[in-house]
Amino acid sequence: MTINHARRKLLIFGIGLSLTAPRLYAAQKAARITMTSDAGQIHLALPAADKRCRVFVLSAPERVVIDMPMTSFPPELEHALTVVRQKFPWVAEGRLAHFSPDVARIVLQVKGKPVITRSTENGVLKVSITEQSAAQDVPQAIPVTTTTPRAEKPLLVMIDPGHGGKDPGAIGNEGTYEKHVVLHIAQRLQTLLDEQHGIHAVLTRQDDVFIPLYHRVSLAHQHEADLFISIHADGFTNDEVSGASVFALSEHGAGSAMARYLSQSENSVDVLYDNDFKTDDQYLKETLFDLDQHETIHRSMDFGSHLAANIIKVHHMHSPHPEQAGFAVLKSPRIPSVLVETSFITNKQEEKLLGEPVFQEKMARALAEGINSYFINEKKNNLLS
Ligand SMILES: [Zn+2]
Repeated sequence: MTINHARRKLLIFGIGLSLTAPRLYAAQKAARITMTSDAGQIHLALPAADKRCRVFVLSAPERVVIDMPMTSFPPELEHALTVVRQKFPWVAEGRLAHFSPDVARIVLQVKGKPVITRSTENGVLKVSITEQSAAQDVPQAIPVTTTTPRAEKPLLVMIDPGHGGKDPGAIGNEGTYEKHVVLHIAQRLQTLLDEQHGIHAVLTRQDDVFIPLYHRVSLAHQHEADLFISIHADGFTNDEVSGASVFALSEHGAGSAMARYLSQSENSVDVLYDNDFKTDDQYLKETLFDLDQHETIHRSMDFGSHLAANIIKVHHMHSPHPEQAGFAVLKSPRIPSVLVETSFITNKQEEKLLGEPVFQEKMARALAEGINSYFINEKKNNLLS
């Protein structure tokens, strides 16, 4: 019996995203992702419009990187990798990890030179992967590479009111709750961005509900947010301490004792209140080491400067420049993210201020101005480059 290996296609896996999407991800499109192979090549079909789908090559050592929207790893995918490793001698190694909470990344280490061809057909991005010397044995013609122009996406800001539900955040001496105050400011900010600047914004929570930190990061990715801003009004051990602060992520620990204290207490939220914390925290740990993170932190610091320049007009600042600390909620690999401490709720005067609608309005306006000014500057830079 003869089997035409070149024509026989082995279905490695084919999954609808809706099947892999637990909990919050009901809004995901049921785009189908498949990975098949014939004698010489690995074939992928990915939704072309989803910009999270990426296939590219890294060198020294030669690696093919495949990113696809996926919040958890289906067993079919794990199996597919085992098959690929066994079937193709030019695949030295195949690894699967999370690139971000909603993007799975396969890294294939290749002996020799990888060859990638791609084409787009009916909204499906088709990618074939092989190795240079193996490519000579592949009988079929190499598809022509085409690119689909991407429509300009309207700007979107993900606003994250800190804490909520069973996690009250800090509580002032007069009984003011951080979780309530920051929700008011966040809601005002959303309205102001929309009405004054035509910028669309989405909140991670609309009500007094608990949302784990990694879900907040994940929501920003799901909405393909251009910016992420987390709003807080924490406490400190010394009730004399006052003023607003802006934080971006640090990869190397906190810049000051205050930053360390605040980030440690914020990050403990998931440990205290979220039962799934241990498994999901892995996402956040992995994203920290990604190459994209450096560029994102740079942009986050820039975003933070635009916010600080506007906050200082309405309230005094604990530090006039953005600081850095390891806040888990800022660990998006590609979305510039900052955390704003609007005031210290443990300071008597500031607790009073935080409860006043006039102060909440002033702070929301300052944040809206800062966001708008960051976008204007970004646009200018993009036009110049
Ligand atoms: Zn807080």
